[in-house]
Amino acid sequence: MTNYESGLKEECGVFGIYDPDGGDVSRTIYFGLEALQHRGQESCGIAVSNTNGPKGRVNSYRGLGLLNEVFKGDELQNLKGNIGVGHVRYSTSGALNVNNAQPLVLNYIKGSLALAHNGNLVNAYELREKMENTGAIFHTTIDSEVIAYCIARERVKTPSIEIAVKKAVTQLRGAYALVMMSPRKLIGVRDPWGLRPLCIGKRDRAYILASESCALHSIDAEFIRDVKPGEIVTIDKNGEIHSEFMDCVIPREKQARCIFEYIYFARLDSKIDGIAVYDARIRGGASLAKTYPVEADIVVGVPDSGLAAAQGYAMESGIPFGIAFHKNSYVGRTFIKPSQDERESSVKIKLSVIKSVVKGKRVVLVDDSIVRGTTITNLIHTMKKCGATEVHVRISSPPFLHPCYFGVDVPSNKQLIASQNSTEEIRRRIGADSLGYMQISELQDMVGDLPICKACFDSNYPMEVPDHEIRDAFEGS
Ligand code: SF4
Repeated sequence: MTNYESGLKEECGVFGIYDPDGGDVSRTIYFGLEALQHRGQESCGIAVSNTNGPKGRVNSYRGLGLLNEVFKGDELQNLKGNIGVGHVRYSTSGALNVNNAQPLVLNYIKGSLALAHNGNLVNAYELREKMENTGAIFHTTIDSEVIAYCIARERVKTPSIEIAVKKAVTQLRGAYALVMMSPRKLIGVRDPWGLRPLCIGKRDRAYILASESCALHSIDAEFIRDVKPGEIVTIDKNGEIHSEFMDCVIPREKQARCIFEYIYFARLDSKIDGIAVYDARIRGGASLAKTYPVEADIVVGVPDSGLAAAQGYAMESGIPFGIAFHKNSYVGRTFIKPSQDERESSVKIKLSVIKSVVKGKRVVLVDDSIVRGTTITNLIHTMKKCGATEVHVRISSPPFLHPCYFGVDVPSNKQLIASQNSTEEIRRRIGADSLGYMQISELQDMVGDLPICKACFDSNYPMEVPDHEIRDAFEGS
């Protein structure tokens, strides 16, 4: 159970908008990012520019914390401009400090470039070393700066930013959904595998790029379509959108959307690559019910991301669905607490069991994942104390066994309960009456024929990945 026990971490959220009619966009970016806050809570930032003003002048503000902690004064008022990009971040690579907050703003001979990135490059270390050997000086420890440099270096030799981007991406390997602002253009890029999501929206004449469609709804924009894997879209000063594909596009069957977006990361009201996240989770729960049926009185889900899967389980099994937890939204975010003890006590305060729902009942408890196992153990213990006669746990993902190199912070093997224990051992340790994990073969059913990455479950990475030493050296740098 993830966000409560500091297990898997969200990655990042990106947002960009260009209003050719000259309207200020910083407040819209703020509200768009607010809808993406679930993707990253450690830092955020907004960079804007005025396409009718002095070329390349960028105003930006970044800070550590949630949006309402960072933008709490006049910051937004001071960000004037009709084009802009924004970012919310969880640090999957690079240390947590304000230098690593995005958007990154680069001033170079061709003007300026503001860049917001979601994902992780697997060859960032290699690229950075090569650039450092030719004199490049890096100001951050994040791979996004490597991308910005690759683009800036190409731009010096090419007639337009689009061509520079197209050339630069041939050097990148890994996951990237990028939103960039050059002095007069807004650009969106999605890696050839489609690992991280990116979509296009429109409000009046303004085009918007966002990690998830929920950000479009929040600003009353219309969803136009997803950016395709390997696509580069450019929005120009006439309010027109242009599309181009990278030279390194890969065939559809080799593409690899991160299945964890559907299981856990993405917001329930988002739709990614034609698949509604809610429907995918319902299907996941239904698969669990078929594979692991049990005699029970009620099906409940762990808020928030276990709820839809629980509903799917209930619908398929015919066992009534119920709400067994009250979530106190006013308790601070658990992952910022330094010690495990503090985290565990925060979990207890944050989720309390509704006794009348579980008393005397055989309960099916559905969650999206088990990382360390501390939270689910607490919940089962409390449910039994409240009178549940049996607690059968169903998990809507297979056990995590392998690291992710594409922007999701799966804890190291030592911390993963599934890497050290069999399912039966885990069942005993968490105190459940039965335990069933989703089968790897069932993951595909959640998203139809969409090609997926499921490497953290089966180690079939969609591309060559670095060995651990290099990965760790880069992340710690
Ligand atoms: Fe997503 Fe897992 Fe693939 Fe990482 S390894 S991109 S978390 S499915």
